[in-house]
Amino acid sequence: MSNIFDGITDEEILEKAKEIEKKRLEESKEKTKNIEDRLKTAWTNGNIKVFKMDELRFAAYKRCQCGAGLAYPKGGPVFGSWDCSAILLGNADLTMKHSSYSFSMYKIKSESQPSANGATTRPMEGEG
Ligand SMILES: [Zn+2]
Repeated sequence: MSNIFDGITDEEILEKAKEIEKKRLEESKEKTKNIEDRLKTAWTNGNIKVFKMDELRFAAYKRCQCGAGLAYPKGGPVFGSWDCSAILLGNADLTMKHSSYSFSMYKIKSESQPSANGATTRPMEGEG
């Protein structure tokens, strides 16, 4: 009976596991940094299309004070926030004020939660 670990010491396996862990951590940090940069760009240049619709997870009910649904980038930072989807999508009216709710301060139901029963603030296809 042989397996892929034949001829490899436990130390070598642990060393490899550590390498993989380190690489994954770096990749996830890079991804987080990338999304944070794009969020910053969206908020400072609200008229620039920064995120695509399918990159965003929308709130089930809660909206920005401008009327657009709240959203956050999928796979975004864990300690992120719900932001105005019009800002993220680059079609916000910049003469209006827009909302941002941090995850740590507000519990906002997402469209992906089963208890939302399909409710979403996602704009209809072609809108915006
Ligand atoms: Zn808004």
